Amino acid sequence: MSDIKKYDVAVLGAGPGGYPAAIRAAQKGAKVALIETAEVGGTCLNRGCIPSKALIANGELYRQIQKSNEFGIFVEKVSFKYEAMAKRKDEIVSQMRKNVEGLVQSNKITLLSGYGRLISPQEIKIQGKDAQTIFAENIILATGSEPREIQAFPFDQKQILDSTSLLNRTELPKSIIIVGAGVIGCEFASLYNSLGVQVTLLELLPRILPMEAEEISLALTQSFTKRGIQIKTNVNVQSLQTSKNGVEANIGESVKAEIALVAVGRSLNTKDIGLEKAGIVPEKNGIIKVNERMETEVPGIFAVGDIASKWWLAHVATHQGIIAAENATGGNERMHYNAIPSVIFTDPEIGTVGMTLAQAKEMGYSPIVGSYPFQALGKAQASKHTEGFAQVIVDKPTGQILGAQIFGYEATTLIAEMAVAIANELTMESIAETIHAHPTYAELWMESAFVALGTPLHLPPRKRLG
Ligand SMILES: Cc1cc2nc3c(=O)[nH]c(=O)nc-3n(C[C@H](O)[C@H](O)[C@H](O)COP(=O)(O)OP(=O)(O)OC[C@H]3O[C@@H](n4cnc5c(N)ncnc54)[C@H](O)[C@@H]3O)c2cc1C
Repeated sequence: MSDIKKYDVAVLGAGPGGYPAAIRAAQKGAKVALIETAEVGGTCLNRGCIPSKALIANGELYRQIQKSNEFGIFVEKVSFKYEAMAKRKDEIVSQMRKNVEGLVQSNKITLLSGYGRLISPQEIKIQGKDAQTIFAENIILATGSEPREIQAFPFDQKQILDSTSLLNRTELPKSIIIVGAGVIGCEFASLYNSLGVQVTLLELLPRILPMEAEEISLALTQSFTKRGIQIKTNVNVQSLQTSKNGVEANIGESVKAEIALVAVGRSLNTKDIGLEKAGIVPEKNGIIKVNERMETEVPGIFAVGDIASKWWLAHVATHQGIIAAENATGGNERMHYNAIPSVIFTDPEIGTVGMTLAQAKEMGYSPIVGSYPFQALGKAQASKHTEGFAQVIVDKPTGQILGAQIFGYEATTLIAEMAVAIANELTMESIAETIHAHPTYAELWMESAFVALGTPLHLPPRKRLG
């Protein structure tokens, strides 16, 4: 027992939930151990957000160059090498991973390489390179998630792939079936279509992006269809047969392609981390119950990231990690979920925050919607990004902004203004009265607020809504 190393805080998993938690705990003066079985940066940096967005940037640039003649720029012959795109992606990931390793080191955090399991509420046994057992006053669990496999058609990672093995490929297929039209499925559909791959998107539910506002699903469906992406909703994929010619999906009819991506959700890494040894009972779906302080039912053990809520977003994991670290080092911080921006890197992009119109009605509000098209915006016309719209969902009696959705160019950045507005309980009047620089895409919010107030500036007159 005496040679067991003691820490104030031990963090299990170095993804976007874990490593920020370790950094914040170290900043608060704690002696911190960070345990990671694979690479620092977790899913987001190594096989999620960053590599996918690096490839998506390639797709966007390629599409933009193809439209260059609309700007009077004539490019004789455009071509690309996917292998070079994949190499660029790998270089970005590897550089960013080094940066995170540097941060961990400069904050004097002990990085332990290996697979950790709780063996009591204050002990973790690590197997692997840095095999040992450590003791910690407080523990933050941040073990994340993996792609979910469907038993009827398991991944072979050659023809039936998950998002990780698809990202690792160095060549493009001619055609792809994507099973699951959630965020990951739609982002890959958009990327592959941009690069000339024939895409068929299969979704069990009645619409693509079923978790998003209906208006957003509809706009993306129209945009994808115009781009030639085949969408089949309300379909149950019963099997995926592989042969040397490719993959065949049985959905009542047969759909064929060279390869298939299965993107039907994630399974949480909570089965084999010794929760039972610490007295923690996860929910049926594997989620670990936590309170607003991110603390589990066992005092001193916190859980953050994908394993601790339904959000499954890197920025939520990071914020939860910071809250947990503050509380593990004597603070009393709470997590709030009313203004979480959610972003989707399709082309055009999507940004949402707060309530949809349907949710606001369900919650008993009397909502009105102020909506404004990109087409009516000077900046959008100038740069030829005229597809899409922004909309604000407003509580009519108080004018408070309840939610916002945007579909169009730079939507993933533009949604930040509405996150600030909702987090600070601002009204649509305050957005309308804020001077927005011209000509910018940010004017969409001011114009949407004008519409909601019944005083549209650059649209024909109409009555106050609601
Ligand atoms: C293709 C794709 C694209 C995505 N794009 C976005 C995006 O654009 N924006 C966004 O917000 N989110 C995105 N996400 C989701 C995002 O990646 C996750 O929500 C986020 O990574 C969750 O962070 P986490 O820290 O909870 O877990 P993870 O990032 O999964 O990290 C968990 C870490 O714990 C380690 N670990 C697990 N078990 C143990 C153990 N027992 N011992 C030691 N180490 C262990 C793992 O190796 C891993 O490194 C994307 C995901 C995917 C798959």
